[in-house]
Amino acid sequence: MKITDVRLGMVRVPLKTPFKTALRTVEAVEDIIVSIHADTGHVGYGEAAATAVITGDTHGSIIEAIGKVIAPRLVGEDVANLNRITRLVQTALERNTSAKAAVEIAVYDLWAQLYEAPLYRMLGGGEPVITTDITISVDHIDKMVADSLSAVGRGFESLKIKVGKDIGLDVERVKAIHAAVEGRALLRLDANQGWTAKQAVRAMHALEDAGVHLELLEQPVRAQDLAGLKYVTDRVHTPVMADESVFGPIEVIELIEQRAADIINIKLMKTGGISNAVRIADIAASYGVECMIGCMIETSISVAAAVHLAIAKADVITKVDLDGPSLCAFDPVDGGVDFNESEISASDAPGLGIRAIRGYQPIVR
Ligand code: MG
Repeated sequence: MKITDVRLGMVRVPLKTPFKTALRTVEAVEDIIVSIHADTGHVGYGEAAATAVITGDTHGSIIEAIGKVIAPRLVGEDVANLNRITRLVQTALERNTSAKAAVEIAVYDLWAQLYEAPLYRMLGGGEPVITTDITISVDHIDKMVADSLSAVGRGFESLKIKVGKDIGLDVERVKAIHAAVEGRALLRLDANQGWTAKQAVRAMHALEDAGVHLELLEQPVRAQDLAGLKYVTDRVHTPVMADESVFGPIEVIELIEQRAADIINIKLMKTGGISNAVRIADIAASYGVECMIGCMIETSISVAAAVHLAIAKADVITKVDLDGPSLCAFDPVDGGVDFNESEISASDAPGLGIRAIRGYQPIVR
């Protein structure tokens, strides 16, 4: 199976409700789609989210990185040589992790199709059903409580609450949600870099002293502030998770060695795809550190790849935050992974199982 062509397109899917964090508000998914075509007629699909505030990737940079730099290296390559291809992708240019992720996802899709197995089985196998949390966007307290109760009513047992806007109000938000859903859902807090280290410690002590039990606190401080992250981790009982602070395997080793956080949030758009995500999961497992698998604002194309990885690495990826597809107004993918509220299941179809993408708009270059 040889790669003959790499094509680019876009997909646009409105969100059910706007996604609001301390960093941004998003109304729709608008992602770059990569399809990699083989001489056998097989097609592998990938997707890149343009999350400029986190990875630096934009639609323009993704199109340019794939079209001009990565794709020319891949044409003619034999899909069976997976490690060679991922090395070609990763060494094509610095950073541009979302562009690399989209290409790697499509390559892994083809590679598993070559062996006629679902990707999770090629990555080591596992039980093909996982359970995700759902994001509660930062908003007025009443709205956040109503959204939380609605999510619990739909069967979600873990809520990821976005905070980080105003520290005093944040504590009140979390207390109100905790009181409303106590005993029915686990609460995960994501401050999206919105606090200083000292503010984070003060807020967490206020919550801990009030008897609010939280499963974890995610990325309280700025991405670059590892010392601040460690300051928080050292001083609060709640486990602290690093998200924007860690992208690749080397950063994960540094973070674990410094004990700057307790948990690592793996996202394919940060790692540059599946090869480094596998490395991070294995590094974390070696140290006995747990991981979450997360996503950006993505559809069920790239999130399907994250699902297959999470299934195969379930012993170390113990927390799942793959609610991107359930935030979308509709699922643009025929086939693939089934996203049914909190329950996500992968089928036995080869690769990612994607048959078609509705609303796919080719990019003519
Ligand atoms: Mg996060």
